[in-house]
Amino acid sequence: MNESRLIDLFLRLAAIEALSQHEAPLAGFVAEFLADLGLKPFCDDSRDRTGSDTGNLVCRVGDGGEALFLAHMDTARSTAGVRPQVREDRIVSDGTTVLGVDNRAGMALILHALETHLAGGRPANFTVAFTVCEETTLAGSLALELDPRLRKCFIFDSSLPPGSFITSGSGAKTFSVAVRGVAAHSGLAPEKGINAIAVAARALARVEQGRVNESTTVNVGTFRGGTAVNVVSESAELLGEVRSRDMAVIDETLFRIRAHFAQETHAAGAGLDFREQWDFRPYDIPADAPVHRDVAAALAAVGLTPNPVASLAGSDANSLNGRGLPAINLGIGAQNPHANDEFILRADLRRACALALELMARS
Ligand SMILES: [Zn+2]
Repeated sequence: MNESRLIDLFLRLAAIEALSQHEAPLAGFVAEFLADLGLKPFCDDSRDRTGSDTGNLVCRVGDGGEALFLAHMDTARSTAGVRPQVREDRIVSDGTTVLGVDNRAGMALILHALETHLAGGRPANFTVAFTVCEETTLAGSLALELDPRLRKCFIFDSSLPPGSFITSGSGAKTFSVAVRGVAAHSGLAPEKGINAIAVAARALARVEQGRVNESTTVNVGTFRGGTAVNVVSESAELLGEVRSRDMAVIDETLFRIRAHFAQETHAAGAGLDFREQWDFRPYDIPADAPVHRDVAAALAAVGLTPNPVASLAGSDANSLNGRGLPAINLGIGAQNPHANDEFILRADLRRACALALELMARS
């Protein structure tokens, strides 16, 4: 491993603007990088389902093997004009943009581990892939073309420090509420109206939000309604989500939320349309699963203490586990993701790259 080359690769990847659905320039750069290594990358056929300007970038090394190494291409916020500062112990932006560490650090360390592994002339049979649209919908990993021979997936996309890895993930359901009231003139005939905003607000006040128990969170993220100050508001709409490690808890929580809205709209004579859908499903990878054992052994081999953890965040691991490919999201130490003070410790970048190299050697 060559740290200055690893950092240089990270900086080049971070400088390429690639928001969700606009990953084509980055995919082009990576395809060229892989082709220069004598490999044959391709973009899969997922564009129709993701709405991106490129497919997921996939590259089989050797016969493609059983292991998939994965990172995502898109960033949640723009990296245009990023001015990275490589300090003695860390890499940061100048504070006016994100650094792009989520997930260009994961991409860089996979690509550098790959070129290092190939330069060593050892056998190489595994697959690498870079997904689109992770930050918005997970659509890239949901539509990723998976060779049926793949048995395990190593994702380099957790902000946890190297050594920590996510073996169980929460699920999330989103819900939408539309309350239909009756419009009327607010001054002349307010008695004829039913104020949808007021009804929705009464129900919302009864919904417990935040961390409602150790493994469950509830959030209402948007609330819109009404048309003008002199009109009793006819409609109110809100969008929210429930996350938990337990599918049944998600459904029970949503049952209660729905009941609050049903009671308040009924009492006011308003109409209600309440919908819910799975955003991603929870998963749990046991300690004796091959992917779990590989990670623990590789971590020990590179001198890190294996630390399996549960997560409430959604990632490509949720989609892939949901699709039947056991996937573990590995800590790479990409800290403060999505904020202008995103950073990565150089030691963490090196450690995560060493882990990728070790996993490739074992594949
Ligand atoms: Zn990420």
